[in-house]
Amino acid sequence: MITVEEHRAAVLAAVAPLEPRQVPLTEALDCVLAEDVVATLAVPPFDNSAMDGYAVRTEDVATAAGTTPVRLHVVADLPAGSGERPEVLPGTAVRIMTGAPMPPGADTIVPVEQTDQHVGPGAGSALPEVVEIRASAAVGAHLRRAGEDVSVGAPVLPAGVELGARELSTAASTGHGTLPVRPRVRLGVLSTGSELVAPGTALEHGQIPDSNSTLVAGLAATSGARPVPLGSVVDDAGALRARLRDSLPDVDAIVTTGGVSAGAYDVVKEVLAPLGEVTFSAVAMQPGKPQGFGVLRDGGRAVPIFCLPGNPVSVFVSYLAFVEPALRVMSGQGTTDEPETLRPPLLEAVVEVGWTCPPGRRQYMPVVLEESEDDAGTRVLLAHPAAAGGSGSHLVASLARAHALAIVEADVESVAVGDVVTVMMVP
Ligand code: AMP
Ligand code: MG
Repeated sequence: MITVEEHRAAVLAAVAPLEPRQVPLTEALDCVLAEDVVATLAVPPFDNSAMDGYAVRTEDVATAAGTTPVRLHVVADLPAGSGERPEVLPGTAVRIMTGAPMPPGADTIVPVEQTDQHVGPGAGSALPEVVEIRASAAVGAHLRRAGEDVSVGAPVLPAGVELGARELSTAASTGHGTLPVRPRVRLGVLSTGSELVAPGTALEHGQIPDSNSTLVAGLAATSGARPVPLGSVVDDAGALRARLRDSLPDVDAIVTTGGVSAGAYDVVKEVLAPLGEVTFSAVAMQPGKPQGFGVLRDGGRAVPIFCLPGNPVSVFVSYLAFVEPALRVMSGQGTTDEPETLRPPLLEAVVEVGWTCPPGRRQYMPVVLEESEDDAGTRVLLAHPAAAGGSGSHLVASLARAHALAIVEADVESVAVGDVVTVMMVP
């Protein structure tokens, strides 16, 4: 048997970050930016009005006040988006809307509220011939200057940043329709087992719903990958080979579940072991002891494949221990020497209901946590197994109750009431 750390190290040594790809902003959310990005557009891109009002020359309105208004001829109308450049000559004004480009000749904006045209909401849009200006204005008032926020060539997003809504809108406003990102890992999800039917389907005797596909796809999406559902395949070597071959071009990595233990129909092992590129190991953990990992070739491309055992709780634990760290590396978010604290912080909890542990294997026990206080009034976490039956790796429905996995080291034989255990919060 090898340890969890040894198996994870072998996995992480075999995976590498995906090549950066230029993707549309709509596909870049939550991706890691691969290169520094600079502005190719200034923000704002041109001088424009911050108010609905009139673009005028300051000297024309220097004496304007409520009692001594100044009358100017309105020579043009500039809605936002207008490409016109009407000149504002002495004695004239241009009606202008918020966001419209400043017309040449004008050096200030008088808001409509300081004119005779302010007639309240729903007022008509007819352009007046003359506007009465009722206040003077300083040069540049209510004007948004080109480049005030960002100038062309300025750095706006550094490589390595995780792209959220604000980063993507920054890219959009500075001239980018696409960005170079580490693409989301396309994770093929394939269940094996002749007993499996799609969730929600009526069962014949001996059949069960394929819950692993849903579990792995959900975990993959949670860790920022893009799950590619490959369905389930019966325990037949030819069928499995064909499904893997057909799927390879569409995925960056594959997770299979089932078919890796010592049964007569453990087809994953039967198909992949002879190819020599996937190694099947016994890992000193419970659940999740039988693990396959290797790399399939699609032309020149290496596609990592994780062959997890079939029991759902084993799948869950194996995913967190091996697949998630590998996906982090492939997406550019992780390092190749991830410690056990994959989901920090690890917490300590006091055991409320004890259980037994397998000799020589690290145990990951799904537990329910409750907050409480000890005799001294200090806050403590209490833990008890999520499933009434304890550690059964088939107890999939109880997994939903668990808040965490208690991690019990290989040399511990049992956990008793009052013991303190280390727990890792789970997605
Ligand atoms: P195996 O490793 O193929 O022997 O499967 C171990 C156990 O996990 C068996 O009881 C299977 O029926 C169950 N199992 C395998 N695959 C799935 C799946 N996709 N969804 C739910 N249970 C499964
Ligand atoms: Mg099976």
